[in-house]
Amino acid sequence: MKDVKGTTRVCGIIGNPVGHSVSPVLQNTLADITGTELVYVPFKVEDNIKAAIEGAYALNVFGLNVTVPHKSAVIECLADIDPIAASIGAVNTLVRTDRGYKGYNTDILGLKRELEEAGIALGGRRVIILGAGGAARAIAFLCAKENASAIYILNRTVSKAENIAASVNEYFEADIAKAMDIADYAGLEGGGYVCIQTTSVGLYPDTDKAPVEDEAFYKKIDAAVDIIYNPAVTKFMKLVKASGKASDGTDKKAYNGLKMLLYQGVSAYELWNNVQISTQQSEEVYKAMCREMGIDE
Ligand code: NAP
Repeated sequence: MKDVKGTTRVCGIIGNPVGHSVSPVLQNTLADITGTELVYVPFKVEDNIKAAIEGAYALNVFGLNVTVPHKSAVIECLADIDPIAASIGAVNTLVRTDRGYKGYNTDILGLKRELEEAGIALGGRRVIILGAGGAARAIAFLCAKENASAIYILNRTVSKAENIAASVNEYFEADIAKAMDIADYAGLEGGGYVCIQTTSVGLYPDTDKAPVEDEAFYKKIDAAVDIIYNPAVTKFMKLVKASGKASDGTDKKAYNGLKMLLYQGVSAYELWNNVQISTQQSEEVYKAMCREMGIDE
């Protein structure tokens, strides 16, 4: 049980639903291991996001995470916004300022740190993004920011992929992102791609499904992240691993999205508290998350 005092900082997560969120375990573990007087609580907010943000500010809430369905709607309640979060059109972290909250998107910082830890570079690489939902949009911006040489956004609903590609190309003033129908994957030339799987296909309980089943597609991929983390090993990850060696002859890498989840939270905590969380501290938090979610570390 936390020792809550009059001076304890209050942070939390706003969303609906929030009951399943692992963020309270993540953030409270961070506060505990850094010896910070901070408590992090879930706030279920159904529709009145404006009243929720104004109320949180009036109550001196120190920092907030924002999750589904409020990541876009919260933007109009902010005093300031990080430019890349504004272009993505989604905010998941609010930092208190003198004038109100400033919004950031730490989902992309989370994936960036996961990729760095896994030794998967985006710079100069051709990237395939499967899916064109909210997560794919943020990830497409990350790939462009990290100087990927080309970004292919493959989706069932092509218009959504086209919309993301147009936003990325406009923001970065380059013809770097291209939209494709996911059924047309055979049109991707050559191999050696990095692939980020962002569709909800393969998510528990539909664990026997993958967004593409054809082995020929997986042969094009050298390294991959499936941002799904339940199950911990998705069918997509298994298909990547089973499709032979990477183009440099090494074993193919395929990771789930649990480290992305970890590092989006770590990045939010760092923004709120103006600290740097060490690798060892992050590992401790990761273990606490796995225990909470019943996942093998
Ligand atoms: P979203 O906005 O609802 O997008 C869902 C995507 O999945 C869309 O591209 C959709 O295609 C595609 N899709 C759904 N069913 C499909 C099917 N049967 N066949 C082909 N494509 C299908 O969701 P999101 O917010 O981007 O999240 C996507 C996934 O990422 C979720 O599983 C979520 O849990 C996970 N996620 C993980 C993290 C993390 O930190 N690891 C963070 C955010 C999200 P259409 O456009 O054609 O419908």
